[in-house]
Amino acid sequence: MASPTLSALLPLLATSVALVGACVGSFLNVVAWRLPRQESLLWPGSHCPRCGTPLAWFENLPVLGWLVLRGRCRHCHQPISARYPLVESLCAGLWVAVFLARPQLMGMHPNPLLLVAAGWILASWLLPMVLIDLDNLWLPEAMLRWGVVVGIAATAILGFLQDPNTGRSLLLEHLLAAGLGLLGFEAVSALAQSAFGRPALGLGDAKLAALMGAWLGPTGLAVAVALAVLAGALVGGLARLLGKLGPQQPFPFGPFLASGTLAVWLAGPAVWIQLLIPALGQP
Ligand SMILES: [Zn+2]
Repeated sequence: MASPTLSALLPLLATSVALVGACVGSFLNVVAWRLPRQESLLWPGSHCPRCGTPLAWFENLPVLGWLVLRGRCRHCHQPISARYPLVESLCAGLWVAVFLARPQLMGMHPNPLLLVAAGWILASWLLPMVLIDLDNLWLPEAMLRWGVVVGIAATAILGFLQDPNTGRSLLLEHLLAAGLGLLGFEAVSALAQSAFGRPALGLGDAKLAALMGAWLGPTGLAVAVALAVLAGALVGGLARLLGKLGPQQPFPFGPFLASGTLAVWLAGPAVWIQLLIPALGQP
């Protein structure tokens, strides 16, 4: 249980975390816009995408800047997408959720501060990839590859800081899950290719599954993929029913995989297994 001092400090800490999360979200908006265009992430500073006018410091404030401008560029008066403040708010929410969560994916007694930091990295890594997939229907190769490496490194650090045995078994499990994710998705894609003559999954999705395995381990990966498939089938089916999506029109699966990953990181696999098994009609 948290001590009384810590409970009193919790709202203050959570607010600070939300503010930092919103600033990170602001940077991730830049990443999602510039990475597919192969522009530098750091230079030049933020500017209006339509007229190129640099933003003043107060316009750069996450969420508030957009509200102050009432969603329009001060110079050319063209609308600025509501996606910017929405992503900033979402990132703030995710950072607080990670801060409060106690994921059971990295052994019994991981260092709590490092575990929270790992969760912040994971959430901030997935968010721009989701945006890029939604915009372009592909996932950035470098972020996928490095996401696997960072996930394995985080697993090794959190594991070996507990004890050598925990470190070794966690590392082995997460490496295995990364390989299984990659091969499993490529196998499904190859099967779909031979059965329907077109790939069911994008190339990036298999690498995203490897990333998920590196961070979540085998059980976490299985649960996250199950959640993504259910959510994807539900949303895709609904979109086709409502005529928002053509019968053969592809839609990005990355956002569902990323949401499944974060759902498992935040709540742990056990909660979802308990929810999913009755849903599949088993006792
Ligand atoms: Zn402008």
